[in-house]
Amino acid sequence: MQKTDFLVIGSGIAGLTFALKMAKHFPEKKITVVTKASADETNTKYAQGGIAVVNDLENDSFQKHIEDTLIAGDGLCNRDVVEIVVKEGPERVNEIIEWGARFDKEEDGDYKRGKEGGHSQFRILHHKDITGWEIERALIDAVGKQKNIEFIKHCFVVDIITQHHLGFLITKSTTDTECYGVYVLNLKNNQIEKILADVTLLATGGNGQVYRTTTNPAIATGDGVAMVYRAKGKIENMEFIQFHPTALYEPGVRGQAFLITEAVRGDGGILRNKDGEAFMEKYDARKDLAPRDIVARAIDSEMKRTGTEHVYLDCRHFDKEKFIEHFPNIYKKCLSIGIDVMQHMIPVAPAAHYSCGGIKADEWGRTSIKKLYACGECASTGLHGANRLASNSLLEAVVFAHRCYLDSSSKMNEAVKRPQVPDWKAEGTTQPKEMILITQSLKELQQVMSDYVGIVRNDVRLQRASRRLDLLWEETEQLYQSTSVSPQLLELRNMITVGYLIVKGASFRKESRGLHYNTDYPGKSQLVQNIVL
Ligand SMILES: Cc1cc2nc3c(=O)[nH]c(=O)nc-3n(C[C@H](O)[C@H](O)[C@H](O)COP(=O)(O)OP(=O)(O)OC[C@H]3O[C@@H](n4cnc5c(N)ncnc54)[C@H](O)[C@@H]3O)c2cc1C
Repeated sequence: MQKTDFLVIGSGIAGLTFALKMAKHFPEKKITVVTKASADETNTKYAQGGIAVVNDLENDSFQKHIEDTLIAGDGLCNRDVVEIVVKEGPERVNEIIEWGARFDKEEDGDYKRGKEGGHSQFRILHHKDITGWEIERALIDAVGKQKNIEFIKHCFVVDIITQHHLGFLITKSTTDTECYGVYVLNLKNNQIEKILADVTLLATGGNGQVYRTTTNPAIATGDGVAMVYRAKGKIENMEFIQFHPTALYEPGVRGQAFLITEAVRGDGGILRNKDGEAFMEKYDARKDLAPRDIVARAIDSEMKRTGTEHVYLDCRHFDKEKFIEHFPNIYKKCLSIGIDVMQHMIPVAPAAHYSCGGIKADEWGRTSIKKLYACGECASTGLHGANRLASNSLLEAVVFAHRCYLDSSSKMNEAVKRPQVPDWKAEGTTQPKEMILITQSLKELQQVMSDYVGIVRNDVRLQRASRRLDLLWEETEQLYQSTSVSPQLLELRNMITVGYLIVKGASFRKESRGLHYNTDYPGKSQLVQNIVL
């Protein structure tokens, strides 16, 4: 068993920013960062486009960024939170620059600013087309210099510990549920251990792996959301899954797909169908730079109409040097599969990309469970509403990591009671004999979610998805009760829970809004509401 002052689950931009702030301001405190994979294997590492921030007040303004965010959010953003994130953003971005993150500059030393779908101004700071990699690198370097941060890798958080584990009945109506730390599966010795903490921050990232094709890496299995739901905490707006319109289409590739950033369309890339027609003007006046949901639905519709599995992104008219300078990674990746983007169009298709909903958190990152904070992609703060504006998520993560730090440090002097937490019970369980029971269920889950709960939904599809998830849930619970836990089984269990929450949210929302499009209810309801589960 370990004890720590501040426990951080997740080593992406949200978790590491919080850990660094705590460590720098409270050198006498111990901060423990836990991740289930290697240090940098996170959604953050794969972010390409950049971080949206207003730092050119001659051509841009907070008001414009706020309006762009509200328009994308389609009536569901919390305006106060949007103002907080946009206005506090520049200071937070300057901090990560001070910690070593480098963003591209013009020859005169001013920052290069990109533009993506839904933005009215050029305001996306970036590092070539590997912005997330650069931010993650800088954060890991900075964390490495803090002696009071313990970084535990390959350690899978199974559940958060609450009064439930002390034998008390906890329900959704319990108002004083408290988090004492977590149970972890130490992947080095396969033992379940306890880490107790005064404050716990969940920064567990997204859930794209619930779908067959996603831009998210294998770690993105929605563990934090599932843990909070099991602990009877509040989860919100799970139906709003953003599909990135342009993941590279490679026949036969499952799981993580390579992303072709929206910045390529920002620089002039044109979507064309199999007949070479530039089709976006049929769907939206903003053409290729319409918000992502509109572009993804337009591509879905063109694919269904023409019976193809992808459309094309045409960059043949680009200046080769400029393309390679801005998008070296994309250029290299395409070339590696035989596509010279100066001569051939890039085959692209939509893929699950970002979860707008998640663990309900207030404007200080506080969840409905005491001493438990959430920030980054796993949280639902009210910034994104029904649809995330491109490149607002890295910004949200740094602003809320700071707010979680402020709020939790203000409570540091409160008396902490550390209860006697029992050890994990694993009696009567055996090693799983057949991995196929887990891998096949995962395939089924991803198939059901992609086919019935994807870009376009309707009631019949949602009902079917719900019935199939019930069966998968029942079978997986039997396995969970009778075998010893493995990361694969834990992730499957979490992903089924997340799938269930997405289907539930989608079924309750009897309208089409933002990323949720139901052909049975094509219009918007008058009642503007968040769906809390
Ligand atoms: C391909 C791609 C491109 C993107 N481009 C952009 C962009 O240009 N701009 C932008 O703003 N956003 C972008 N995004 C979104 C953005 O990258 C993410 O929303 C953001 O990085 C999430 O950061 P995070 O810290 O919340 O989570 P992550 O960076 O995903 O980190 C999650 C961490 O939690 C850990 N974890 C999860 N579960 C457990 C568990 N059970 N036990 C222990 N550890 C666990 C993981 O191992 C990982 O360390 C992109 C995302 C992708 C996938």
